Amino acid sequence: MIGFIGLGIMGENMASNLLAVGEKLTVHNRTKSKAQPLLDKGAEWASSPKEVAEKADIVFTMLTNPGAVESVALGEDGLLKGLSENKIWVDCSTVNPEFSKAMANKTEAAGCRFIDAPVAGSKDPAEKGLLNFLVGGNEQDVKEVKSYLDIMGKSIQYMGSHGNGIATKLAVNLSLVTSMATFAEAVTFGESLGLDRKQLIDVLLTLPVTAPVLKGKREMMIENSTFEAQFPLEHAHKDLQQIAETAYKTGAPLPVTHGAKELYAFAKQNGLSKKDFAAVYQLLASEGAD
Ligand code: NAP
Repeated sequence: MIGFIGLGIMGENMASNLLAVGEKLTVHNRTKSKAQPLLDKGAEWASSPKEVAEKADIVFTMLTNPGAVESVALGEDGLLKGLSENKIWVDCSTVNPEFSKAMANKTEAAGCRFIDAPVAGSKDPAEKGLLNFLVGGNEQDVKEVKSYLDIMGKSIQYMGSHGNGIATKLAVNLSLVTSMATFAEAVTFGESLGLDRKQLIDVLLTLPVTAPVLKGKREMMIENSTFEAQFPLEHAHKDLQQIAETAYKTGAPLPVTHGAKELYAFAKQNGLSKKDFAAVYQLLASEGAD
């Protein structure tokens, strides 16, 4: 039996792919209604993270941030209370290396095993089972969960010991989120010179100067309207905060990242938290119009 906790944009799709190939799944989510589509497809409901861990041999978590992971793992009816010896907890949430290592230590102290396996790839790759797993932990443990990662993803990058998976994920998101900010700035700048938005976006996306991943933002940017969240802007800001805190400890200077972080903070302040992170363009475009 496999367990899955955290059935948001990413988790629901990942769990759904496990179910689709016939895996037996027990699930829990803070808001039960979000589990209904999976329950309709045959997943079992567990009333707490503890119950998931009691029923399953391997438990996946896909939660917002360290606070959410902490409450699911260490709470009164938390995951670690239900894990018995040798079971494996695979945390796919985007947190930070220090936090992840602390979770690994607590899990090992309970006689169990921990893997950090955050993902690169957003809602569409999650739906299609095309995520890229960035993995840290004991290599033998990773081999044990590989067949499940293969169902949810198209690649597994084994990066070494505990915390190295999430360290890699933060480096990936540093590049992704700052790239989105500079792309939005390039478009805003071009428009301020009278260029046509659609034509400019298409030129920028054709040239190698623009990160290929941003092709997925083309329609949103051209329409400049709904920005329905694939990767919510508030999570992009959260990731930059994780990066900033981590870099403070390692001493890595990140001037561009810190600037971008404050841009996303302004976007949140302007009501864009729940929109896709590409909506940072809306902030710049509206600032430009003033
Ligand atoms: P989401 O849709 O906001 O889902 C967040 C999940 O965390 C929900 O299940 C939510 O439960 C749960 N949660 C939040 N706070 C909690 C708490 N205090 N206690 C218990 N559960 C709590 O987010 P998502 O987009 O799926 O992202 C999940 C993780 O994947 C994040 O770390 C994100 O950075 C990362 N990620 C996202 C993407 C993406 O493109 N979306 C891509 C790669 C990685 P409720 O349903 O009750 O709110």
